[in-house]
Amino acid sequence: MADCLFCKIVGGSIPSERVAETERILAFRDINPAAPTHVLLIPKEHVADSAEQLHGEHGLMLAELFGLAAEIAAEAHLEEGWRLVTNVGAGAGQSVFHFHVHLLGGRPLGWPPG
Ligand code: 5GP
Ligand code: ZN
Repeated sequence: MADCLFCKIVGGSIPSERVAETERILAFRDINPAAPTHVLLIPKEHVADSAEQLHGEHGLMLAELFGLAAEIAAEAHLEEGWRLVTNVGAGAGQSVFHFHVHLLGGRPLGWPPG
């Protein structure tokens, strides 16, 4: 999608600190980290603006995303616990409308979140 920040990160016209990737998923560090480990995992293709647009056809992509998140968490030694979050809509804090999942860890994570 031409005017999408995360599509530009996938394409490389906006730089990012890449952490890992698979065929369908790119993982890079959040520019404004909310925890010592704060990685964003996104599908390389703009298949959805947010999680509310996901369907069965996205199953493989989502499985790949979750698997890569677990690998990154293991690599970062987040044995104390980590969290995956996806914000849906501006009211929930979504600011980039290319589906993405936040991986947070490296500090105590309260529950429920604020
Ligand atoms: P959302 O608020 O939509 O759930 O998450 C979007 C995230 O993207 C935010 O945590 C924000 O800090 C991050 N972000 C915004 N612009 C950039 C950027 O240019 N590069 C990187 N790496 N992260 C960004
Ligand atoms: Zn996009």
